[in-house]
Amino acid sequence: MPQQIWLDDRLVDSDQAKISVYDHGLLYGDGVFEGIRVYSGRIFEHDAHLKRLFESARAIRLLIPMDFEKLKHCVETTVSANNITDGYIRLIVTRGKGALGLNPFTCEKPAVIIIADKIQLYPEEMYENGMKIISAVTVRNHPLAIPPQVKSLNYLNNILAKIEAIDNGVPEAVMYNHEGYVAEATGDNVFIVRSGIIFTPPVSAGSLEGITRKVVIAIAKKHGIEVLEKNLTRMDLYIADEFFLTGTAAEVIGVVEIDGRQIGNGKPGAVTQLLRKKFFELAHGKSA
Ligand code: PMP
Repeated sequence: MPQQIWLDDRLVDSDQAKISVYDHGLLYGDGVFEGIRVYSGRIFEHDAHLKRLFESARAIRLLIPMDFEKLKHCVETTVSANNITDGYIRLIVTRGKGALGLNPFTCEKPAVIIIADKIQLYPEEMYENGMKIISAVTVRNHPLAIPPQVKSLNYLNNILAKIEAIDNGVPEAVMYNHEGYVAEATGDNVFIVRSGIIFTPPVSAGSLEGITRKVVIAIAKKHGIEVLEKNLTRMDLYIADEFFLTGTAAEVIGVVEIDGRQIGNGKPGAVTQLLRKKFFELAHGKSA
């Protein structure tokens, strides 16, 4: 049976899942989305993801054409129709089909698209040995331009930094804000450990309010590790004892080198390893 995609109000075969070339999601990147994981048959942090989607939509004056509970049900229906017990959900709400021209109010009705599929993670070897990354030259969007808290379909800012990473032969890049402080990585939040304390930039430094970030902070605190939100400089990253990234796709992954500087002893550190293990246990329904 072909992949079943939720489109607006029903499931359709993937080859029938089509949207208009006049959709402003395509024409202007006008829309919002979420990436959500399914672990051991459960949708991880489902409510938190939907809440963020509704908030992103509200921020850009996009009215999602169904309520929270109905959308939740549509996501669950799509996951079960595709027999996904461990996988990834891409939930997208575009502005919909409208006239050429920026005016979003020419669009009749937002399109709701839900894809539930497998996910390609970083290779296991990278979780064991850590990843090498770089600092991007591309500055994170100014919060007064496109608020980084809005998870919109307009990802060019991050894509430009991702291209820098790929050009340098690494999978990720740290993005700094217009003041030079660490904002986030292209698709992940940034954490460092120094003298046993975890530091992460405040969301106001220019990051998405990551759901994995929130979960990992809670796990750390539960295990008696202090977590402080603080503006971080490039120097802070260079001299960190440990460095890791969090995100729905990446989960918790250690960084062992940035801009040619080795972090710690060049292996994912003890705090990183503990958090990765506890995150896995929590995600799979075992107590963290
Ligand atoms: N920052 C950006 C720019 C992201 O796209 C994401 C999600 N991939 C994250 C951070 C991590 O957020 P979450 O843990 O909610 O996936």
